[in-house]
Amino acid sequence: MKDWYERTHPVTGERYVARDEPGYADIPTFMRCPRPDDLTEIDIAFVGVPYDGQATERVGARQGPREIRNASTVLRAINHATGVDPFALSRIADAGDVRLPRAFDVMATIEDIAGFYRPITAAGVVPLSAGGDHSISYPILKALAEDGPVGLVDIDAHLDLWDSYLGSRYHHGSQFRRAVEDGLIDPNRMVQIGLRGAQNTREGWDFQREHGIRGIYIEEFRETGVAGAIQEARRIAGEGPTYLTFDIDALDPVFAPGTGTPEIGGITTFEAQQLLRGLRGLDFIGADLVEVSPPLDPSGNTALTGATLMYEMLCLLAEARAARG
Ligand code: MN
Ligand code: MN
Repeated sequence: MKDWYERTHPVTGERYVARDEPGYADIPTFMRCPRPDDLTEIDIAFVGVPYDGQATERVGARQGPREIRNASTVLRAINHATGVDPFALSRIADAGDVRLPRAFDVMATIEDIAGFYRPITAAGVVPLSAGGDHSISYPILKALAEDGPVGLVDIDAHLDLWDSYLGSRYHHGSQFRRAVEDGLIDPNRMVQIGLRGAQNTREGWDFQREHGIRGIYIEEFRETGVAGAIQEARRIAGEGPTYLTFDIDALDPVFAPGTGTPEIGGITTFEAQQLLRGLRGLDFIGADLVEVSPPLDPSGNTALTGATLMYEMLCLLAEARAARG
């Protein structure tokens, strides 16, 4: 697999593997992966979705993909806790950003994002995406769940099960309600972890309960620990194809302040790593990490945290893909 990562430098003609060179050098792709010429020879594609047009509060997540790429250049390959080397299991490339020529038009942009992912899934390539606001999960699921509903492991402070807001049914607090309504997610195989925060209405909680969605609120998480959340997530998601989504605001704002809708009393970065490692063996068909907002992240730590959690998700996707054969 190492040979696949070798590229010819356009100036010197030398063969080299970008990840073996210093992270501060050259143009930052995700974890210094190559840019593919097309989709035919890759297994997992990093995709940026530079869009925050459906954020309800503070924006800036449109700049997430670029800063996550930059922060990711310091990351290394072999997972010290699990021993997994995703680069030995898969051909991983940075497929660039979703093109958004109609970014001011919400409905057109949903179609543009879904349309970008359809050739990726048609080619059998597993997408690992960086947002963007959390609304991007809906068009991604439109492409990934074309053959029927999938399970969802959703790590977030928020339910994202609201209905309309500011006159629109489509925003980053409603995408999973829309996905359940459209048959993209099986609500009985959906688990939400890290939930907390007051609401102005009960409609999200009502929808969750009425559709049998399993919510692990932060109080339960503190009570049963990471191990309890892992056990429950595995039980709910089961053995079928499952999507993984991580809203960075699931973390306590001490660890991830650079996000639009922070909620205190959240999970720690180490708990998040343990949680993700505990999901090994689930049949993940794609994943995203959303809501990193660089303008709200002057230290850059939120982008680094997002990139590092994406590495854990990459390990999960590479193992799941290998298990499917
Ligand atoms: Mn969210
Ligand atoms: Mn959230």
